[in-house]
Amino acid sequence: MTLLATGVVNRSPQIDPATHRRALESGKLRYCPIRDGFEVTDTRIAVIGADEHGVAEALFLRTYSSKITLLAERTVDLDERDRQALQEAGIALAGAPLASIDFGSGDDVIITLEHGAGTLVVDTVYPALGSDINNALAVDLWVALSDCRCIATDEDQGSNLPGCYAAGDVVAGLDQISVAIGHAAKAATAIHNALRALDGQTADK
Ligand SMILES: Cc1cc2nc3c(=O)[nH]c(=O)nc-3n(C[C@H](O)[C@H](O)[C@H](O)COP(=O)(O)OP(=O)(O)OC[C@H]3O[C@@H](n4cnc5c(N)ncnc54)[C@H](O)[C@@H]3O)c2cc1C
Repeated sequence: MTLLATGVVNRSPQIDPATHRRALESGKLRYCPIRDGFEVTDTRIAVIGADEHGVAEALFLRTYSSKITLLAERTVDLDERDRQALQEAGIALAGAPLASIDFGSGDDVIITLEHGAGTLVVDTVYPALGSDINNALAVDLWVALSDCRCIATDEDQGSNLPGCYAAGDVVAGLDQISVAIGHAAKAATAIHNALRALDGQTADK
């Protein structure tokens, strides 16, 4: 029996590891508004990632704050619908992509824009740059993946490979500890029952 729980890695803007860690610890850098959006209520927020995912994150955060700016890490990839949604929600779109971020200036985060387009001062930065799924082990084992490159599982967290289960962020869904623990409980029960069945004992749900 195998349980794969290899997680994901959130893509971050170019920040050195020590600065990244300090910015996370101070709450100036955050990755998931579903988890902590309420903590940035009414503050100035920059969302990095000017594509449909960035728009979705900015719109989600708009329920907590009216002071939101979306900016591109490199290029803007927004269609007319995205732009209209931003406009209707009162979310600003920065005039140039990100050049650098300074997390060290007191309580402020100073974002410098490319092409001399000025600076943006905010309280918090949310990168919305997607995640890389740690699916290498699953791929090596020929475990089937879903469209988003996560491990595809049934209701008991079983994969297409008999005896191989998956839990946590590497399975499609909300990337949260409570969800991972729920997956793990279901997988552990299924593995326990499968082992008992192998022993010739009765398997209970
Ligand atoms: C900055 C940040 C803040 C967060 N805050 C919260 C929060 O407040 N509340 C909340 O509910 N969730 C939070 N999360 C999400 C939470 O951390 C994840 O949902 C949870 O850790 C998922 O658990 P997991 O076991 O699936 O993956 P992980 O905790 O990512 O563990 C996977 C492990 O597998 C290892 N691994 C990967 N590939 C291999 C391999 N081939 N061989 C061996 N090992 C491998 C990885 O190195 C890692 O140690 C946060 C995430 C981040 C990044």
